[in-house]
Amino acid sequence: MLNKNIVILGAGESGVGAAVLAKKQGYNVFVSDFAKIKDKYSQKLIAEKINFEEGKHSESVIFKAEEIIKSPGIPDTALIISKIKEKGIPIIDELEFASRFTNALKICITGSNGKTTTTSLIYHILKKAGLNIGLAGNIGKSFALQVAENKFDIYVLEISSFQLDYMFDFKAEIAILTNITPDHLDRYDYKFENYINSKFRICNNQTVDDYFIYCKDDKVTTNNIDNYKIISKKYPFSFFEKIEENGAYIDNKKIIFNIKSNTFNMDLEALALQGRHNVYNSMAAGISSRILDIRKDIIKESMSDFQGVEHRLEFVAKVHGIEFINDSKATNVNSTWYALECMTKPVVWIVGGQDKGNDYKSLRQLVKSKVKAIVCLGIDNTKIIEEFSDLVPKIVESKTAKEAVEKAYYLASSDDVVLLSPTCASFDLFENYEDRGMQFRKAVNDL
Ligand code: ADP
Repeated sequence: MLNKNIVILGAGESGVGAAVLAKKQGYNVFVSDFAKIKDKYSQKLIAEKINFEEGKHSESVIFKAEEIIKSPGIPDTALIISKIKEKGIPIIDELEFASRFTNALKICITGSNGKTTTTSLIYHILKKAGLNIGLAGNIGKSFALQVAENKFDIYVLEISSFQLDYMFDFKAEIAILTNITPDHLDRYDYKFENYINSKFRICNNQTVDDYFIYCKDDKVTTNNIDNYKIISKKYPFSFFEKIEENGAYIDNKKIIFNIKSNTFNMDLEALALQGRHNVYNSMAAGISSRILDIRKDIIKESMSDFQGVEHRLEFVAKVHGIEFINDSKATNVNSTWYALECMTKPVVWIVGGQDKGNDYKSLRQLVKSKVKAIVCLGIDNTKIIEEFSDLVPKIVESKTAKEAVEKAYYLASSDDVVLLSPTCASFDLFENYEDRGMQFRKAVNDL
């Protein structure tokens, strides 16, 4: 028995998973959550006989910890975090902790956009290939819980920058950085370089035997890559540039994968996920699968029958010739840029919510050429109205998903698209982006 005190802050999916694993490993575990803990998680803690508190942080107990595992949702500005730092108690992430107790190979995906899609696609391919594989990180079931309760050979892990910030010795055998665009700057002192540093932590501890897959078209990535001493094998992918060896690129409407002196190609048309952003995601997924020597026919088949992920450019229904698309997960400018870019019909655009410091300028060109009307869905829509009123003849406001859908339906004609791609967080009017997407879907189905 270790008899070491470990405290876990935040009793959500990651915290409870970490608690279960820590208990199993012989730590004295205490879980503390400043809010009320969801029933499903308090029940798990009770069943596992793990001590916990909710609605407060008992400092006398917390400060006795030799190590603290922090939920990625707790910002550094939380009072308890600065006090812990003053005391010099190390704080780590759940992924850092769990990685100490598994030898499984880890494919790790980070980036500003495309993490969930790429992670899910890789999982789909490797599962189809018959590998014993777990899906974890910022998605689905906690990594620590799976390390405690399952025995997977490989994990596909979606990793956010908030998680990376508290990972130190963790190593990704295969690291993927989808792209870097300004996001979450409120948690990085409004300094883009801090956020960039955070994303490149995905390569920490990699050796020459490991892999780093990244988007060569992403200027922020390529302008900064040399600032980090990355010694792993680099596998770029690009839409515009030929990648002669070790990577993927586009030629004649095909993705050409060049991996370990072996080439294969895939028709863009055959991809289940359409849109240029998804071609990037498919290239990243294909490269990692080939690194693992997955058969080409399995990769091709999986990339064409993948069902996609909810709330990401998800087709909802066609009503009187008007197509409704739910892209509720588009919570920043870049993701909406890609959504608008792949629209081929006139768009009634539902946009708005809680602004995270958006600069809408980069959308102006696309909005001008594709958007015929805007329905704002947010409490304060001033910025959107100011930015686009000279380009879009019709801008109206709404305060519920139902109202937004009804107004959009009224403004659209047969053969148009109503696109919910909000560019903003959802917390002003909804519980989260899933709630926003589900209310949108329901409102469409009620038309
Ligand atoms: P994440 O997990 O990084 O938030 P998702 O896969 O959930 O990424 O997608 C979030 C939003 O970004 C969706 O609106 C989606 O259509 C868009 N998107 C997906 N992949 C990319 C990409 N590679 N580049 C830009 N936008 C993307």
